[in-house]
Amino acid sequence: MQAHEIKDIPQSTPAFLIDKDKVSQTLHYLRLLKQRSQCKVLFSIKSLPLTAVMKQTLTVVDGFSVSSLFELRLAREVASGRADLHVTTPGLKVDEFDALATLSTAISFNSLEQYRQFKPFLKEDFSPGLRVNPELSFVEDNRYDPCRAFSKLGVPLSQLSAQLPEGIEGLHFHTLFGSHSFQPLQQTMAKIEAQFSASLRALKWINLGGGYLFDSEEQIAPLIDLVTQIKRQYALDVFIEPGNGIVGAAGFLVATVIDCFLREGKTVAVLDTSVNHNPEVFEYQRKPLLIEEVLTGEHSAILVGCTCLAGDIFGEYRFNKPINVGDRVTFSHVGAYSLIKSNRFNGYNFPDIYTFDDSTVRKIKTYDYAHYREQWLT
Ligand SMILES: *Cc1c(COP(=O)(O)O)cnc(C)c1O
Repeated sequence: MQAHEIKDIPQSTPAFLIDKDKVSQTLHYLRLLKQRSQCKVLFSIKSLPLTAVMKQTLTVVDGFSVSSLFELRLAREVASGRADLHVTTPGLKVDEFDALATLSTAISFNSLEQYRQFKPFLKEDFSPGLRVNPELSFVEDNRYDPCRAFSKLGVPLSQLSAQLPEGIEGLHFHTLFGSHSFQPLQQTMAKIEAQFSASLRALKWINLGGGYLFDSEEQIAPLIDLVTQIKRQYALDVFIEPGNGIVGAAGFLVATVIDCFLREGKTVAVLDTSVNHNPEVFEYQRKPLLIEEVLTGEHSAILVGCTCLAGDIFGEYRFNKPINVGDRVTFSHVGAYSLIKSNRFNGYNFPDIYTFDDSTVRKIKTYDYAHYREQWLT
């Protein structure tokens, strides 16, 4: 499927589309990683817990990583019996712990306090781990930085000794977002090895988190080397748990221009979608990529959403022809953290959801007034 053809796929808009070939491409690199290093791979479903995608990833991944009981229940339902299901969250609650421990294969406790609290309730066939904060920041924006000052995510290495608490079988860290490079990971592992060299050998597993992208054989070579070396040295299972790396580039949001006018000399084009179908655009004031944009184009338009919020704006884009009512536009790289954060603010419906590959297009989900009513009728 050519990029410019994607906007012609949906019968109506707004529509959220997943390119299954693109997901397969990433899964291909993850398969190589597994074959060459024996790394275990989990899909972090919080980025897009769409079961069609989860099932597709299961052709390669060993299981799922989840952050809540609802995610875990969905993961359990989709996964085959022997899948690895890892939980980590700052949100463990007493009344949910039994179900979490029963349905998952490992929980990485987010603090020593919670480990102590829940240790008496741990069962036999269950693997307790500890999420650590390596205190090495690689993310510029501290809203994304698990190693920021006063971070709530994981136990800081400086608060741990060389000896891990008794009963802990695994270590977990997650410090990156959208990284093409494995250099930060190498640096983080070096710090962890320096502190825990003796206790790593006694562990059953280490989970290197997510935030990684996979785009070529050469690019993943350093990861293969690192995992191979860790496994050789410490004889433990090594996990990674990407989310965005699997679905981010595979997602598209197609919208139609429903109104168009001039404001102080600039063209403003109103779309039949809004930032509520991709809330990070507003949260992080980020301009999403648009397939139809021509950076050298002579025409420009501010693309805005159709809700009452004045700041419901995608950004100003350039085109080689004027934008008109009825035109379709396609945001790309919106597979992760868009649909899952979508809402029906102003009563505007969710987009229809499609999957496609080179030969097949499937509309897999639509929502209607009944779904909206069900949510709000009390
Ligand atoms: C969000 C998250 C991931 C996945 O991150 P991506 O950037 O989507 O790859 C993995 N592990 C943990 C602990 C996370 O919080």
